[in-house]
Amino acid sequence: MSLPDLPNPRPGPAAGHVYLVGAGPGDPELLTLRGARLVAGADAIVYDNLVSPAIVDLAPATAERHYVGKKAADHTLPQDDINQLLVRLAQAGKRVVRLKGGDPFIFGRGGEEMEVLVAAGITVEIVPGVTAAAGVAAYAGIPLTHRDHARSVVFTTGFLKDGALDLDWPMLARRGQTLVIYMGISRLPDICRELVAHGLPAETPAGVVERGTTPAQRVAVGTLATLPQVVADEGIRPPALTIVGDVVGLYPRLAWFTPDSAPAAHPPHAGCTAVHRGEEER
Ligand code: SAH
Repeated sequence: MSLPDLPNPRPGPAAGHVYLVGAGPGDPELLTLRGARLVAGADAIVYDNLVSPAIVDLAPATAERHYVGKKAADHTLPQDDINQLLVRLAQAGKRVVRLKGGDPFIFGRGGEEMEVLVAAGITVEIVPGVTAAAGVAAYAGIPLTHRDHARSVVFTTGFLKDGALDLDWPMLARRGQTLVIYMGISRLPDICRELVAHGLPAETPAGVVERGTTPAQRVAVGTLATLPQVVADEGIRPPALTIVGDVVGLYPRLAWFTPDSAPAAHPPHAGCTAVHRGEEER
């Protein structure tokens, strides 16, 4: 793949360094130029289940490929093992690209991995990516802010380490803001109920986008009262993002992306459909 020449290009990947690269939400075209250049110059690629295979394919044929999204036994590779793998590859002098879905620092554990690498004395560069909230909302035709509907936007997660849904509901249920919930699809009935219990009108528009930005994108919309049933009826599965707020009401008018017309040359990675016990929906 040839990339455009920009003035003052940054150096390519260096031996013994780790690059935490955001791969974007699915559509490989949403990878940054910096990310593409680093993948193309890597000795080792470490990637998980939300990364498009087309992006992994940008790596040289000679590069080691480590898939850490799922092991044969259907469990995700424990985070400690991933951390140790990154340290080992860097200490072996490789140019290591750690590819993560969306943005590494937004519900991506990029911070945890970087802490371990920095503690081991390894140089790390972060390449931001298009996070699911931005990419998926854009392809669904749901503007996250809008002067008539939402002055702020909150990103939160519906999946907590201990399984509890212990969120700051009064803050999340504020009007005049858009709420984006990562990883919360299986808790959707609880989430919608809590938001209404804490003051959002039951008729607040809400939607769920499955595999946004990919040829398999599906959008289900309703209200806080109806969405859980709509999502159950349509069989929506992870990875899926929930968006709550009046901006979701713009979807029928602003939807522009026709998934069926998108090239299906790169089906989503098989791992994308997995729901891992204790590691739900990542
Ligand atoms: N670091 C990532 C988020 C990882 S958490 C980012 O910045 O986007 C994984 C969650 O992100 C999924 O459970 C889902 O809620 C959301 N997600 C990621 N890609 C998605 C996609 N293509 N469509 C819908 N939701 C997606």
